[in-house]
Amino acid sequence: MSYTEEQVANLVDGKLDWETTFRMLSMPKDLGRFEKYLAALQARVAYADKIVLPLAPHMNIVQRASDKKWMIKCDCGHEFCDHTQNWKLHASIYVRDTEEAMTDVYPKLMAPDTQWQVYREYYCPKCGTMHDVEAPTPWYPVIHDFEPDIETFYRDWVNLPVPERA
Ligand SMILES: [Zn+2]
Repeated sequence: MSYTEEQVANLVDGKLDWETTFRMLSMPKDLGRFEKYLAALQARVAYADKIVLPLAPHMNIVQRASDKKWMIKCDCGHEFCDHTQNWKLHASIYVRDTEEAMTDVYPKLMAPDTQWQVYREYYCPKCGTMHDVEAPTPWYPVIHDFEPDIETFYRDWVNLPVPERA
């Protein structure tokens, strides 16, 4: 099985979920795919830090050039935090928790009941790019997404040396 140009483009645009992404990047026949993918991501950003792994649309874990620390960074260059931290706590958050706010994005009858579900949108404080949306119950704490096991991914999935980390 091979992947189409369109699928690779979706991958670079961050439109695929992580399971599909990992499966695509680790196809045995497609060795070198991950490097090409990283190169495509790197070509889209202006910063010099080396991209280690994409984390969300327009957001990557990078190896900071100055000290080799792994940081979470927006395409615009804004640094959120260390890669082990929850970047959402460093984002600008917009919560849709009223009927008016919900019907901005949902047709009236399809909007969820805000007593049971709200929408939290996470934006870059510098450039305003939306990096994630959650639909939790209103009292649910900010969700810390998976922390990818980057060492294992490099070593066992894509067969590449793990980038240095301070
Ligand atoms: Zn940004």
